[in-house]
Amino acid sequence: MKHLTEYRDADLVQRLLADIRREVRDDRDYVMMEVCGGQTHSFVRSGIDRLLPERVTLVHGPGCPVCVTPLEIVDRALAIARRPDVIFTSYGDMLRVPGTEGDLFSVRAQGGDVRVVYSPLDAVKIARENPDRQVVFLAIGFETTAPANAMSVLHAEQLGLTNYSVLVSHACVPGAMRAILTSPDNRVRAFLAAGHVCAVMGFWEYHPIAAEFGVPIVVTGFEPLDLVRGVLAAIRQLNEGRAEVENAYARVVGERGSVEAQRIIAEVFELGSRGWRGIGDIPSSGLRLRPAYARFDAGRRFDVGRVRSAESSICIAGEILQGRKKPHECPAFCTECTPDHPLGATMVSNEGACAAYYRYAQQGETFERRS
Ligand code: SF4
Repeated sequence: MKHLTEYRDADLVQRLLADIRREVRDDRDYVMMEVCGGQTHSFVRSGIDRLLPERVTLVHGPGCPVCVTPLEIVDRALAIARRPDVIFTSYGDMLRVPGTEGDLFSVRAQGGDVRVVYSPLDAVKIARENPDRQVVFLAIGFETTAPANAMSVLHAEQLGLTNYSVLVSHACVPGAMRAILTSPDNRVRAFLAAGHVCAVMGFWEYHPIAAEFGVPIVVTGFEPLDLVRGVLAAIRQLNEGRAEVENAYARVVGERGSVEAQRIIAEVFELGSRGWRGIGDIPSSGLRLRPAYARFDAGRRFDVGRVRSAESSICIAGEILQGRKKPHECPAFCTECTPDHPLGATMVSNEGACAAYYRYAQQGETFERRS
């Protein structure tokens, strides 16, 4: 398949790995963060993380939307979904994310009308078909899902729907990068930026970050060849003392991204502070509805009272999402916490680091060489 199989060519990957081995110096360490959970899964699934030289350390970033959705939003979603007048809609992977008391599946088992949709426009359609019910869509994700979620609000407005609303928890990559780089115990020296986010947003926002913090940022795709190209480009920049934004995913991404998608996002959403699960509030790292669209805000429409959220005392997902720890360092990993019985969102999501380590571990593997 064009643009897929050639990016999984083992010989080409091995050649670039040899280039990486030649490029890596013995007198320095290369700590780089792959921003997106999809990249984490590709690294672990393909085994590339274990083929990199010891001096190259991959830090798994916070770019899994399910994982970084604050517990308080999950609890608020559960409270709204329990209401008898509500049809609660969501992408499937949010249904198993544990809140303080249960998850959306358990709400459904108790009689709540919780439905999986594949697009927020499906949720708008449900709202049209059920004028006597309130339909809520759980609008989470990074900049990749923001255009469709914004479109659903515009579409509902066009249709004059008064029974559609969105519970918004959108995250933006640049704010998260800044928070990681200003953290006192930051060890990230380069970023592999998420290719799909950049397909929407371009990479013009990253230039000031690279310049201010002196970090190379390499826009990277998701196939094995993309990943090793991204790693090699980051290593070369570090060796040469450069801190530039480099596009290693040019077949998909351009500097400006999708201008129309950005226009739609900016029409409906504005930048604001956002809570990140396990990390806390990060200024200018999220999207919220503009005042002109506040009537579509499910958080305002439904008074669910004060939500008391309590994180699992065992789960160290917050430290994993900031690159301080690896999943196998969690005492609950593969024991109390498994995909069938997840204690934290990073074990639930298809993009979660804990799920990646669980899914792609070899039988009896110690995980020690996972960088
Ligand atoms: S293994 Fe489970 S409990 Fe441990 S950090 Fe991951 S999600 Fe949390």
